[in-house]
Amino acid sequence: QDKHKYSGIVQDCCCDYETVDHLNEEVLHPLLQELVKTPFFRYFKVKLWCDCPFWPDDGMCRLRDCSVCECPESEFPELFKKPNHRGLSSDDLMCQEGKPQAAVDRTLDSKAFRGWTETDNPWTHDDETDNSEMTYVNLQLNPERYTGYTGPSARRIWDAVYSENCPKYPSEESCQEEKILYKLISGLHSSISIHIASDYLLDEATNLWGHNLELMYDRVLRYPYRVENLYFTFLFVLRAVTKATDYLEQAEYDTGNPTEDLKTQSLMRQLVYNPKLQAACPLPFDEAKLWKGQRGPELKQKIQAQFKNISALMDCVGCEKCRLWGKLQVLGLGTALKILFSVNGEEHLGQTLQLQRNEVIALMNLLNRLSESVKFVHEMGHAAEKLIEGK
Ligand code: FAD
Repeated sequence: QDKHKYSGIVQDCCCDYETVDHLNEEVLHPLLQELVKTPFFRYFKVKLWCDCPFWPDDGMCRLRDCSVCECPESEFPELFKKPNHRGLSSDDLMCQEGKPQAAVDRTLDSKAFRGWTETDNPWTHDDETDNSEMTYVNLQLNPERYTGYTGPSARRIWDAVYSENCPKYPSEESCQEEKILYKLISGLHSSISIHIASDYLLDEATNLWGHNLELMYDRVLRYPYRVENLYFTFLFVLRAVTKATDYLEQAEYDTGNPTEDLKTQSLMRQLVYNPKLQAACPLPFDEAKLWKGQRGPELKQKIQAQFKNISALMDCVGCEKCRLWGKLQVLGLGTALKILFSVNGEEHLGQTLQLQRNEVIALMNLLNRLSESVKFVHEMGHAAEKLIEGK
């Protein structure tokens, strides 16, 4: 039975809406829900108190729900505190020969994981390596939901994200790559709005939480492009995960709890080597189509700088919990961009991929959030539209 009106191929992707909904429901959503609960994936390292580099702090937040509950030192895995012990050998640093220099390579070195790195991500402003003022946050205790953060402060962030960094309505002549940056941000914005709508404070007096379908309709469903961008972003991030299959399969998910860590590894394997996923949507997005023209390297640097600015803007979000999820999800997008489009303007993938532990945590938690949003739109979208039509 059709639950929403979207059908056909998701624009700029390689799979259709029905397949995405089906795969998400059957495979991705259940596995991701389990994965993000594991000790490895539930602790996110983040610098929550940082100065906004663009304007003075005007944080305004109405609800107690804005504040983040940080982890006591004893709670988060000991191993996360130690510096990474497995360094790179000189072999790892040598260039790989015989790779075509022009196009984006779709493959990754199959001896992928060589220890967590601490190298900065060129796509993002905020990094695990930044400094020692980081805290660990248990994401399970800090769900993304309605916080009451609204008004000029929130609006200023979104306006800056769209107008300063990527055109709000990309014109016809704006190139494919710029459109993609816009779509990623818009898709993330849709996902945030859907989480607000799915876990909303319906009645402050009785502290009643629940779905706000009207809000979901007003902010997302009534604009089909926002739904499309959500699906696009989901497929884009999914492609980054499938591209990094070997790396993610070999990575060490150690937290000092062998039973839990084995479970994490097993869930990751079930996800990246999933036969249903490989059969139904083997290439969720084709990154090799990008950066093809002569302006390729220059364009990549420009878009990288724009995305870095968006990442820096997250320090200006005036509500702690929104800032936490904003930072996590932008880091997750930055990680997807890094996996798909190499480490910097000159390099191409096919070379050794190096990720920070926190980047992988952000990537998988972002994929889970997008998966939740896609599921919510699929299941509740029709009901929301009926509700509005009935008014
Ligand atoms: P907004 O969502 O603020 O949108 C502003 C404008 O952007 C719209 O008028 C429209 O022109 C455009 N727009 C909206 N959606 C899209 C889209 N999908 N694609 C393209 N353009 C679009 N609030 C919470 O309650 N909980 C949270 O966890 C939370 N996290 C946040 C994280 C970040 C990084 C930011 C910047 C804000 C967050 N907020 C959160 C606030 C929330 O996103 C809204 O800004 C707030 O609820 C006010 O909504 P609004 O109706 O004014 O529209």
